[in-house]
Amino acid sequence: MRILLVEDDDLIGSAVKQALKDDSQAVDWVRDGVTALSSIELESYDLVLLDLGLPHKDGLEVLQTLRQGKKTMPVIIITARDTIDDRIKGLDTGADDYLVKPFSIDELHARIRAVVRRNQGSADPILTSALLKLDPSTKRVERDDDSYELSSKEYALLQALMVRPGAIFSRGQLEESLYGWNEEVASNAIEFLIHALRKKVGKDGIKNVRGMGWMVVK
Ligand code: CA
Repeated sequence: MRILLVEDDDLIGSAVKQALKDDSQAVDWVRDGVTALSSIELESYDLVLLDLGLPHKDGLEVLQTLRQGKKTMPVIIITARDTIDDRIKGLDTGADDYLVKPFSIDELHARIRAVVRRNQGSADPILTSALLKLDPSTKRVERDDDSYELSSKEYALLQALMVRPGAIFSRGQLEESLYGWNEEVASNAIEFLIHALRKKVGKDGIKNVRGMGWMVVK
């Protein structure tokens, strides 16, 4: 999953970025509202974590611009503004959730899972394809009666595919959802991960569609 983190505080920003990377997410971190909006124009994000007190453009203005521009990705506000009025304003402006600082990283992870799940139109936390079941809270995949542990990147790749079973993802699309701006991507990285995943879940677990990409069967 590709996440845009908008946070001007260095300490909080680097802690959240690291925690998200540890949780197998690709993260781009920007520090002001104007850069946030231009990043959203350039990349397709699965989620935005948005601070409110930001240089150049306030977080609420960013949110408003984003929603007026018909950008529908989930947004979680992360802020120290903790009054009921602030929360109501944030949610009414189009945020999907509102988390007051200081928050626990575990709670942030859980809220991200919940918001993304709802955005994908599913109440069930387990992602399911014809052959596989993927549990985002444990990062394990099940096939038949066996359960397999996944590396961070293996999980990220399988998660990207299993969010939309039956849809074909190109290498470029998968790279985009697995790697942030500053991460170097080896040219065969995706093939390498697919190979490792197939060793665990079987060749038919992830289908190659020649010349187009990969998919999990619905
Ligand atoms: Ca701030």
